[in-house]
Amino acid sequence: AHSGEVGVFVRIRPTANFSRDIIECLPDGQTVNIHHKKDTRKPLDPRKIQLSSWSFRLEGVLQDVSQEEVYARVCRRVVLGALDGYNGTVMCFGQTGAGKTYTMTGSTESYKHRGITPRALQEVFQEVQKRAEHAFSVYLSYLEIYNETLVDLLSSLQGSAHPSHRSMVISEEPGRGVFIRGLSLHPVHSEEDALNLLFEGDMNRIIGSHALNRNSSRSHCIFTVHIESRSRTLSDAKYVTSKLNLVDLAGSERLGNTGSEGQMLKEAMYINKSLSFLEQAILALADRRRDHVPFRQTKLTHALKDSLGGNCNTVLVANIYGEASQTEETLSTLRFASRMKCVRTNPAVNEHMDP
Ligand code: ADP
Repeated sequence: AHSGEVGVFVRIRPTANFSRDIIECLPDGQTVNIHHKKDTRKPLDPRKIQLSSWSFRLEGVLQDVSQEEVYARVCRRVVLGALDGYNGTVMCFGQTGAGKTYTMTGSTESYKHRGITPRALQEVFQEVQKRAEHAFSVYLSYLEIYNETLVDLLSSLQGSAHPSHRSMVISEEPGRGVFIRGLSLHPVHSEEDALNLLFEGDMNRIIGSHALNRNSSRSHCIFTVHIESRSRTLSDAKYVTSKLNLVDLAGSERLGNTGSEGQMLKEAMYINKSLSFLEQAILALADRRRDHVPFRQTKLTHALKDSLGGNCNTVLVANIYGEASQTEETLSTLRFASRMKCVRTNPAVNEHMDP
């Protein structure tokens, strides 16, 4: 993608029942066609089985692609940009089970199958070593958004036993963009430090969700690498900052009202609400005639405001599950992905001066 265009990829989770009659990847590596057989037979019209087809063209279709290659194609450019002072966001979208966590975090059992986030951390510290003419400071934060509540997944490191609901507020300041007031920031000096915090945060997410008896795939998570760099050779007051957001969104499947009640229904309502506002924000952004974009309607869109329409290099991976029974969800994920392609951002280096 060119600077300012959102890079949109689709990744197809391999399944035993994958059918080329339904999901057809063209040899250009960029186009995926979906063929959907819909049985609309009515009693008086026995022949009517409708075959509809849709075609989606994206920056890349990732099918049978290794974790290493996914990182290289989707994320490397964004990480290198972050080290140069450009904000970056990589996010995964799709129904539960489609491979979002596999793409972002990967398998914890196998090094080869680790996902985008640990690979990004490795590259950040490799570059920090290489770019010896700059002094870098790196901090991490890990935010979970559950039912419109902000949870600091790293707050237990500051003395409290549970992930805290301490008051956090999404704020905006000129020159700083959107940030979360009250979210803990943790300095890290090596890849190992950073991986330990990532692991700690993931554990807190699981422990917290058990303690509160809720399902962890029902929340949005934003893992952020905050980078600050200063030239070692020029002794001026300038320094550069950036944020790299690695985002695992809650499952996008539309849970109907049937069967869900109580907690489940409440979760479904909040997710449907935040994801539908995300879609509305994206529709408004893609339609240049609209000058008002409803970012503040949910915590998710507000927290991601810079990633969507502001100062950021943004990449989306739309994860789809290659099962015939999931075609409706696959189509809705791909529609979201193609709208995202029309969104434009304005990445610029974040330069600051010491007072
Ligand atoms: P989600 O986060 O979207 O709910 P997961 O990442 O948990 O989905 O994936 C569901 C299951 O499928 C996991 O067991 C995961 O390891 C597996 N999986 C997902 N994507 C792939 C892939 N590209 N290759 C191999 N296994 C995958």
